[in-house]
Amino acid sequence: MEYSKDLSIIIPLLNEEESLGELLAWIRSVMNREGYDYEVIFVDDGSTDGSWKKIQELSEGDPRIKGISFRRNYGKSAALYHGFAKACGKVVVTMDADLQDSPEEVPEMYRMIVEDGYDVVSGWKQHRQDNKLTKNLPSKLYNATARKITGIKLHDMNCGLKAYRNEVVKNIEVYGEMHRYIPYLAKNAGFDKITEKPVHHQKRKYGKSKFGLERFVNGFLDLLSLWFLSTFGKKPMHFFGFSGLLMFLVGFIMTIWIIIAKLVHQAQGIRYRAVTDQPLFYLALVAVMLGVILFLSGFICEMISRTSQDRNKYNVKETID
Ligand code: UDP
Ligand code: MG
Repeated sequence: MEYSKDLSIIIPLLNEEESLGELLAWIRSVMNREGYDYEVIFVDDGSTDGSWKKIQELSEGDPRIKGISFRRNYGKSAALYHGFAKACGKVVVTMDADLQDSPEEVPEMYRMIVEDGYDVVSGWKQHRQDNKLTKNLPSKLYNATARKITGIKLHDMNCGLKAYRNEVVKNIEVYGEMHRYIPYLAKNAGFDKITEKPVHHQKRKYGKSKFGLERFVNGFLDLLSLWFLSTFGKKPMHFFGFSGLLMFLVGFIMTIWIIIAKLVHQAQGIRYRAVTDQPLFYLALVAVMLGVILFLSGFICEMISRTSQDRNKYNVKETID
């Protein structure tokens, strides 16, 4: 495929007016030094300060500077999604707007995609310049969990500074708050040459962070959803049917056990407590009911998956006609 530029830099932002001028000057100096044919796409995610005005000023007289402005705040994933759709560079780089990520890292990341053949190069904030207690520590735990579940060995899955081969960003759908797991989305779309590069990280110079501690809870739930979708998304009955069957079997064995115990005691003429007096009876009841519910959920999910847009979405690499 032909791309009209070498490089697209996508910058999602929410209320970062003080940083934009400095950031663009920095990017320009690196780009000119390296001689890239590039574009910068600012995506204003519903800022309420002067960010959009600033972007309009910065883009004047320079067609390489582009912008998208949302009518309201939709979140970083939505901003990236729209930036990705617009990007026409062979390599696509994403970067935060707050001057925490350094444009100096871009040339090496670009080289790793073009020359070393990687699909995704993810930044790794080795010496993170954020609050130790609220960000660095939970982030370590969170990344360890993400590594386990996704099978991708990255130290810093959620780093804002990343580089992609263009096909990657055109073949993934970043929605909700899934921007935290783009390498996982890429892997699920069949792009498995994923690596990381240690990057410099600066303290936030202006404004304040847009994400709090809730990111770790939500992030974990999103990770579970993604895992479920990637494993069973196209065959939900394999999950619900299997666990339903298991529950049903457990309930069934308990029921048989209860009946046999009752009959044996009766045959021997021994008085035995009523079936409904036994804890096992209630356990059996719950197990059978859970089994039925799981099965029904499976059927419903199969119907949803049958009507879903994704049901025949497969990522074709090449064809010979
Ligand atoms: N951001 C955005 N939409 C949002 C929240 C954040 O576009 O709803 C942008 C923000 O302006 C910044 C980047 O996402 O450019 C990373 O956000 P932030 O610096 O607050 O995250 P942190 O560095 O604290 O993890
Ligand atoms: Mg930041």
